[in-house]
Amino acid sequence: MTTDDPILARLTALRAGDLPVHGGRTMAYVYDSGLEGLDELANAAQAAFAGVNGLDMTAFPSVVELENDLVRRATALLGGGAGTFTSGGTESCLLAVLTARQYARKERGVTEPELVLPETAHAAFHKAAELFGLRVVNVPVDPDTFKVRPADMAAAISDRTALVVVSAPSYAHGVIDPVVEVAREAERRGVLCHVDACIGGWYLGHLRHAARQGQDVPGVPEFDLSVPGVTSLSVDLHKYAYTAKGASLLLFRDAGLRRHGWFAHAAWPGYPVVNSTLQGTKSAGPLAAAWAVTERVGAGGYAVLSTRVHRTTRVLADGVERIEGLRLAARPEASLIAVASDDPDIDVFVVADELRGSGWYLQPQPAFGASPATLHLTVTAAVAQPETARLLLTELEKAVERARELGPVRVDPEVVEAAATLDPDALTPQEVEIALALAGVGEGGRLPERMAPVLAVLQELPPRLSARLLPEVIGRLFRT
Ligand SMILES: *Cc1c(COP(=O)(O)O)cnc(C)c1O
Repeated sequence: MTTDDPILARLTALRAGDLPVHGGRTMAYVYDSGLEGLDELANAAQAAFAGVNGLDMTAFPSVVELENDLVRRATALLGGGAGTFTSGGTESCLLAVLTARQYARKERGVTEPELVLPETAHAAFHKAAELFGLRVVNVPVDPDTFKVRPADMAAAISDRTALVVVSAPSYAHGVIDPVVEVAREAERRGVLCHVDACIGGWYLGHLRHAARQGQDVPGVPEFDLSVPGVTSLSVDLHKYAYTAKGASLLLFRDAGLRRHGWFAHAAWPGYPVVNSTLQGTKSAGPLAAAWAVTERVGAGGYAVLSTRVHRTTRVLADGVERIEGLRLAARPEASLIAVASDDPDIDVFVVADELRGSGWYLQPQPAFGASPATLHLTVTAAVAQPETARLLLTELEKAVERARELGPVRVDPEVVEAAATLDPDALTPQEVEIALALAGVGEGGRLPERMAPVLAVLQELPPRLSARLLPEVIGRLFRT
């Protein structure tokens, strides 16, 4: 954005403090195709439809056309017979759970519904359980592969189960749960099964497409709605379809199941309401951008991008294994890499701080259960340029050397002990202050430059205490 308008200039100045969204150096949150003109197309489509309200499809029939087109493209790739365009992965997951809860209520008379989740399932499912009143049955994963075991999932299914979830792949480790086995058992027991392919669906689907076209790419395990027993699947377009943010699809086995998640209301004096998503008024901008971008890139284009990403992920994973002090938490099965340390002198969070200093953002993931502290890398097409990938490995190696010199962050064991005695539900404001000061997050509404010390404390705290403190930190940022 270059402009003389002082208002736009102010926005440009604010953006200067953010992570870059292009260039492949921000390895979480952003997806850069590296394709010339694609973002411009998305922006133009978005602008043309910004004012169109997806709330009322009778007033804006263009919305129906675009959504039908997009869903058709997705079901051709991933199976299924119906779908809904949503604002993002979280909304797709929320709607999948809501749909399953309504289905369980109406079709099976389940009054106290349960949601069976591998402990690696995305946080969005816990949000859904909290919002829609389901009890979570958390299933531990294999500590070596970080995949859930079919027998453990089977044992967690009960008469109350509304939905079982598997990931393809999981966000934290980039591995694919045994979809076929879990879905088969779900079907046998008469419960619905959702595949969270939010991040991997578009990418894995097109990788398989590339393989079918005779390209030399490794086989992808079966994961989509063509697998017997899979009843819904979420796939984000604002990830590996490289479209503007605010774009995801929730696909269903059939339109009958989808219908259970819709909300209709006529008993008020206003307009008749039918909502297929959680939102009311919604801009058709992201829908138009997604339609335009997927139209331009096409199945062949995505196959090329996915193949390139897949190869680069393997190159990066092999490179990580060669760096002394680092290891892979799991062998990546898609485009995500979780890097752990295998040397007590190397603290991955210090590595992340060092890399950030040299312009790369790798996402810290605190230790949880059997999963060690890791750095998460989302490999997108922009990283999949040979020079970029090589540069990343060089910078990573240098950052590891510097982290070795700096040494790991040490958390005072007395602090951890004291924290363990705190009741997250009964913290006084003073206790919150003390806890935050110990974590290195003081007053002033600013986060520290180096996050390693904060993350080190955070991962030592009981998760419920962390969840109590995190909103306090963010509350200080949004101070008005
Ligand atoms: C990104 C992601 C989500 C949530 O999607 P948002 O678009 O961030 O709301 C859910 N599940 C998985 C596996 C994801 O990677």
